[in-house]
Amino acid sequence: MSGATVRSTSDEVATHPPHERVLHFIEGAFVPSRDGGCFETRAPATNDVLAEVAEGLAADVDRAVSAARRAFDESPWPRMTPAERAAALRRVADAIEARGEEIVRAECLDTGLPIAQARGQATRAAENFRFFADAVTQLETHAYGVDGRFLNYVVRKPVGVAALITPWNTPFMLETWKVAPCLAAGNTCVLKPAEWSPLSAVKLAEAIADAGIPPGVFNLVHGIGEVAGAALVAHPDVRLVSFTGETTTGKEIVRSGAATLKRFSLELGGKSPVVVFADADLDRAVDAAVFGVFSLNGERCTAGSRLLVEDAVYDDVVARVAERTAAIRCGDPLDPATELGPLIHPEHWRSVRGYVETGVAEGARLLVGGDCPPGLPASNYLAATLFADVRPEMRVFQEEIFGPVLCATPFRDEEEAVRLANGVRYGLAAYVWTRDLQRAHRVAGAIDAGMVWLNSQNVRDLRTPFGGAKESGIGREGGRFSFDFYSELETIHTALGDHPIPRLGLPTGD
Ligand code: NAD
Repeated sequence: MSGATVRSTSDEVATHPPHERVLHFIEGAFVPSRDGGCFETRAPATNDVLAEVAEGLAADVDRAVSAARRAFDESPWPRMTPAERAAALRRVADAIEARGEEIVRAECLDTGLPIAQARGQATRAAENFRFFADAVTQLETHAYGVDGRFLNYVVRKPVGVAALITPWNTPFMLETWKVAPCLAAGNTCVLKPAEWSPLSAVKLAEAIADAGIPPGVFNLVHGIGEVAGAALVAHPDVRLVSFTGETTTGKEIVRSGAATLKRFSLELGGKSPVVVFADADLDRAVDAAVFGVFSLNGERCTAGSRLLVEDAVYDDVVARVAERTAAIRCGDPLDPATELGPLIHPEHWRSVRGYVETGVAEGARLLVGGDCPPGLPASNYLAATLFADVRPEMRVFQEEIFGPVLCATPFRDEEEAVRLANGVRYGLAAYVWTRDLQRAHRVAGAIDAGMVWLNSQNVRDLRTPFGGAKESGIGREGGRFSFDFYSELETIHTALGDHPIPRLGLPTGD
């Protein structure tokens, strides 16, 4: 993604219309960029400017990392007990809830998420802080006794300064999904939100300041990925990088971070299959398939964007999905009746629309949608779109479109279903619909994915590991698995009594 950036001086910003002015948050204070530069963030619904955002360059990143490093070395945060940190994180959750409507509105305006769906995301954000506050106080300590002569135990320590780099889809929720466990484990951090959706991160900084977290523990730097994000990943004082975004960006980040051997957690793209067998509860499968790909504007990493249906029910399922797809209400994200809002940015709209053209050119059958719905401004809105008869060699089957586009493909039998499900480079999620219990578990096991839902949609249990197989990522976050990433494990070996110690260098003859 390349952000639409407009650099300007601080004087120019002062003469701009009274847009909100959004700053970095470094060492407990909201500050502009060192050179006063800004970029604009626009409302996807109208493409009007929402705010002038401080544009972080390498000098701003260095200032934020230095603040985080000082807080790690000198502030009480890494040395507090887990229970003390948990209490502070619960105060962040309270402060998020106190700003609930503000956050929802910012998220809605800045990302185009339908307001009813944005509400759920903000609630989940507060839950993330409470969940990790509880989880950090419940971590087990592992100890290994050896013959009553040794006791070896493992302690978890904070690692250092973390770079947390997040995408523009559901930004607030995803930011809290990283910040909460990172701080719970005693690290300090610099968050770099996506340049297309920077507004709600500012509300997070305010909530963190209200909660009394020491200055420098949490820092926020806005900026363009290839500039501010890249400077953060390359910074020698950053020890770990938790990144959510595109697979191509993830690869670039690993290449750059390798120079200083950072620890990575990568949550990347997906092209997740929804596998529907003929014996499934088709009503529920259709509900879930439509919701799974068209909610959150289709900009969902775990979207079930490939609908694989057994031959016997293929025509029936596709017809039902088509009817529902055509009825999805696309419109203003602030209207509570809206089910599908605008895509995040005209550049992204062109990419998604380009895939529609590609699908048609490749011979897929366009059944519903494919363009801006009548009556809505062009450039960001795309009607919910359904392709049928998509073949595995087509680009629309293989590549992540990240918009409201569903591709349906028939299959003959279980073996072909698994082959199709696994026939892409991604492996984030999968959904399987069948009433045959044994087949459900057999197929779940055979699919290469980080998460498989059986007869269910994407309901999350925060204790379970979240992440992708193959090119959908490296590592898992969620529950105690987040702490495996955000902690350094140190083993302490103790002798419980005297034991023979090999002796070297004794005088000869002894
Ligand atoms: P993106 O990769 O373009 O950007 C993500 C973040 O990385 C942004 O903050 C961006 O500024 C930054 N960035 C870009 N280039 C960088 C660089 N060279 N160095 C450092 N940082 C850089 O992704 P996006 O378009 O914002 O988000 C959509 C993608 O995110 C989709 O592929 C989606 O599947 C994925 N995603 C994955 C999950 C998951 O949990 N697996 C969740 C949400 C989104």
